[in-house]
Amino acid sequence: MKILVAGGGGFIGGHLVNRLEAQGHEVRSVDWKPQSDWYQVSASAENMVLDLNEREACLKAADGVDQIYNLAADMGGMGFIENNKAACMLSVLISTHMLMAARDKDVQRVFYASSACVYNGSKQSDPNVTALHEDDAYPADPEDGYGWEKLFSERMGRHFMEDYGIEFRTARYHNVYGPEGTWTGGREKAPAAVCRKIVEAKNSGNHTIEVWGDGLQTRSFMYVDDCVKGTDMLMNSDIRVPLNIGSGELIAINDLYRMVAGFAGIEIELKHDLTAPQGVRGRNSDNTLIQEHMGWEPSISLEEGMRKTYEWIEQQVQAAG
Ligand code: NAD
Repeated sequence: MKILVAGGGGFIGGHLVNRLEAQGHEVRSVDWKPQSDWYQVSASAENMVLDLNEREACLKAADGVDQIYNLAADMGGMGFIENNKAACMLSVLISTHMLMAARDKDVQRVFYASSACVYNGSKQSDPNVTALHEDDAYPADPEDGYGWEKLFSERMGRHFMEDYGIEFRTARYHNVYGPEGTWTGGREKAPAAVCRKIVEAKNSGNHTIEVWGDGLQTRSFMYVDDCVKGTDMLMNSDIRVPLNIGSGELIAINDLYRMVAGFAGIEIELKHDLTAPQGVRGRNSDNTLIQEHMGWEPSISLEEGMRKTYEWIEQQVQAAG
């Protein structure tokens, strides 16, 4: 098939391009960043730099493709999304124009990368969380800005399926991490920030590390290989409802720091910044539905995935000097 990966210069998009090409598909990868800033550039893919906020750009990107994976969004970790709500919501232009382009160019299938940030905030106020089930998105009280855009766009996709016959698939990703992603600059998410801070502590000899919040907030983190595998399986399935793709392995942020300090072989002291953005108190993925539909769930352990991520970020920090 000929497949468009929108946001192919980004973290998950880059890994997805590799997977689809390895399966023998012809891939068009589109991102608005200059190619020198893409995390991975496949020499065999058709790589295009386009601003997918624009309708014309989406029409060009969707021309002649059988499937679209829409992973393009202006996003980042908690520090970014809490301070850039308007920018996050503007990604609705990408979702809208991409769906319209799929309709106008007769594309058979569209995947949309939604997020666990669509879930009702009141279900995430305790670190000992009950894992989030797909039904917990309504009544709606998602993450302000970013989560509202995701919830709106996944709903719009559903209606494009009903009204225009496009096969629409959407996954609610829960914290994805791994090599070849953002690790510095303000948009990085917790796993990458933890690895970078531990490498810096090891290099500098200053082992006091600043943690956002009290560190008791809990999360589950999914290794990127599981993410792209689940995405591919969902896209090619007949599952028309939003599905969690996330790990069910819960950890407190303080313990994540301790795990990574163990890889570095250093003792650390955690200093908590209670004024820093920390998001919800606890969040985990309920994988009942994905198991029911696909007989599969993300299974790469946090220990294994974080070790690989730590090694990659250590190389990036050393290379950056
Ligand atoms: P990323 O920022 O690395 O990738 C997104 C890419 O989209 C970037 O390369 C960016 O340049 C590109 N983009 C943004 N605006 C664009 C535009 N107007 N035109 C063209 N390209 C544009 O992020 P990621 O972690 O790879 O996330 C991919 C998708 O998955 C996003 O939709 C994100 O919201 C969603 N998601 C990610 C996570 C996670 O933990 N990483 C969790 C939930 C949902």
